[in-house]
Amino acid sequence: MSKLEVREKCGVFGIYHPDEDVARVTYFGLQALQHRGQESAGIVTSDAETLFSHKGMGLVSRVFREEHLRQLAGFMAVGHVRYATSGGSKVDHCQPVIDEKTNFVLAHNGNLPSTLALEEFLSERCIPSQGLNDSEMMTKAIGYYLSRGENLVDAIEDSKSLFNGAYSLVMMWKDRMAALRDRCGIRPLVIGRLSKGFVFASETCALDELGAIFEREVNPGELVVTDGIKLYSHQMESDRQVDAFEFVYFARPDSTINGKLVYSVREKAGMILAREYPVDADLVVPIPDSGIPGSIGFARQSGITYQQAVHRSEFVDRTFIQPDQSLREMSVRMKLRPMAQLLKGRDIVVVDDSIVRGTTMRDNIQRLREAGVKRVHVRVVSPPVRYPDFYGIDTPDQRKLIAFGRTVEEISGFIGADSLGYLSLDGLKEAIGLPPDQLCTSCFTGVYPITIGERAASVMMQFV
Ligand code: AMP
Repeated sequence: MSKLEVREKCGVFGIYHPDEDVARVTYFGLQALQHRGQESAGIVTSDAETLFSHKGMGLVSRVFREEHLRQLAGFMAVGHVRYATSGGSKVDHCQPVIDEKTNFVLAHNGNLPSTLALEEFLSERCIPSQGLNDSEMMTKAIGYYLSRGENLVDAIEDSKSLFNGAYSLVMMWKDRMAALRDRCGIRPLVIGRLSKGFVFASETCALDELGAIFEREVNPGELVVTDGIKLYSHQMESDRQVDAFEFVYFARPDSTINGKLVYSVREKAGMILAREYPVDADLVVPIPDSGIPGSIGFARQSGITYQQAVHRSEFVDRTFIQPDQSLREMSVRMKLRPMAQLLKGRDIVVVDDSIVRGTTMRDNIQRLREAGVKRVHVRVVSPPVRYPDFYGIDTPDQRKLIAFGRTVEEISGFIGADSLGYLSLDGLKEAIGLPPDQLCTSCFTGVYPITIGERAASVMMQFV
């Protein structure tokens, strides 16, 4: 298979505005989306004729300096922040992707589990796809139709059937900007309005930080195009199923997805968890930052004192942490520090949003024990992650998931907890509060709403 094993969770941003310094606005937009990807960042701007581009590895603030922003001219910009696992951390795969032949620009959040149709399409047209990732192949396919004289809408609509997977895209070509979301809307994508223009962003938090007015979401299966004056909508087939994991972990707590404030969902999930798995303890201790809203909910419901007894270093620059296991473990140690003075001799409930590989929690428990904690009860504000993700989360290998093929008791033993309780799937759905058929829960259930093609053969169902 020529597709690189690049698995991404990313943030995308776009702005069309004649009177703004679009590069600078995009810089701040990407900073607001930094939690969705810290490995590389890129901005491409356009004046409808020429593209200006700057990309690099690391945090947005590291990649861009004043002189870069000043060179990024034009009235439109597309930006991207990216998180990729092994094999993907190379500067040549930084986004946005540019099709040199047509000057078409694309930024992608999500992942295509199967690229066979795209590979075949490109190879039949003698367009090399060797070494290209899914986003680059999508760019080539749309670029092909543009090079044959099609307009942007037709080129996207004609290529779309080749895109087998999850995608929230922001694109630009000539004097048009476009946004497209897959049939299910697995990854979020929203539209905002600035005085004389439009912005597109993965999450509402980016709009809020820029003072843009939330217009609406890009609907699942919708293509939205703008000329800077109006929005034109092309609604295609849709079956709304946003990824429940956005509510659990990815999205920033102050973002709103489908009308639900992510913070409130997490807090409510913590309350439900306290009802489902009550425990006697002295303190509720969050794993910062991801466990904080859930812990607050757990403490409120249980009446146990909430104490932030684990400190998180805010200024650890993770730029040089490569995504392999040993460095990930080192980064955990650098990031979190339990305060022995508050913890010694206490029974505590540790709350975190999710357990994926299990190393973070195992490490934290070991350090809590070193700090003198008596009993550690772990409560997780999501169900066990038992299935790999193919839609843009970095959990591709099922055997690396600690909940794969293990009972809750076995997982509890692995992480070294005195007890372990996971939020039920029904509890999570209740906390999110959307109609249950409008949620993608594939990493908990193994039910994939968009076909995962040849990857299906690698998924092992389990009944523990
Ligand atoms: P681990 O169990 O060691 O894989 O770490 C799980 C923790 O990492 C969770 O508590 C989350 O806060 C966070 N997390 C969850 N999913 C992801 C992901 N796809 N990429 C990076 N971190 C994640």
